[in-house]
Amino acid sequence: MFNFLPEIEALRNKILNCRKCNLCKTRNHVIFGEGNLHAGILLIGEAPGRDEDIQGRPFVGLSGQLLDKILAACGFTRDKHVFISNIVKCRPPGNRLPSDKEASVCMPWLTQQIEMINPQILVLLGATALKHMAGPNYRITRDHGKLINIRNRIAIPVYHPAALLRDPSLKRNTWEDYKVIFHKYREIVDTNHHSPHIQ
Ligand code: SF4
Repeated sequence: MFNFLPEIEALRNKILNCRKCNLCKTRNHVIFGEGNLHAGILLIGEAPGRDEDIQGRPFVGLSGQLLDKILAACGFTRDKHVFISNIVKCRPPGNRLPSDKEASVCMPWLTQQIEMINPQILVLLGATALKHMAGPNYRITRDHGKLINIRNRIAIPVYHPAALLRDPSLKRNTWEDYKVIFHKYREIVDTNHHSPHIQ
């Protein structure tokens, strides 16, 4: 078993006390993230929303419930298969997009999480995660479901669950993208992984 829990705990304390950008002035909670610290998949979202800011947990509103359903259909659970984090750890007021400056100031926290958790697969949830992880030349409408190399790891962009709630017609393509994630997980993380919903 790995032996990095003290380092993760130290990082968690630093993040929870971070005041490096103005979002610290309006937040209720800093959202460190949650899941398995040894997960093969790191899910990267955009930023906490209202529900997350209130509860101090990532993806707990309607988007989070939809995300949990999709993960379950792939045979994944939050506790065992994934860790969930965001590009920025504090809620932008009014759920606006995080600015480029906020994202770049907060990014070193995510970088340290990636290095410590060491996931084989990064799943980029939506355009903001794709932009800040892969660069401004990528487009979620064009590049969702594709395998991208980011920092020598496999990354797969998918539509953000909030986008699926706004436009349910995206769900069909998104399910195909999650099948890509499922098969890559079986290939490089656990050959015995199974879902009754995917052949
Ligand atoms: S958004 Fe990130 S950089 Fe800004 S205060 Fe929160 S944790 Fe710190």
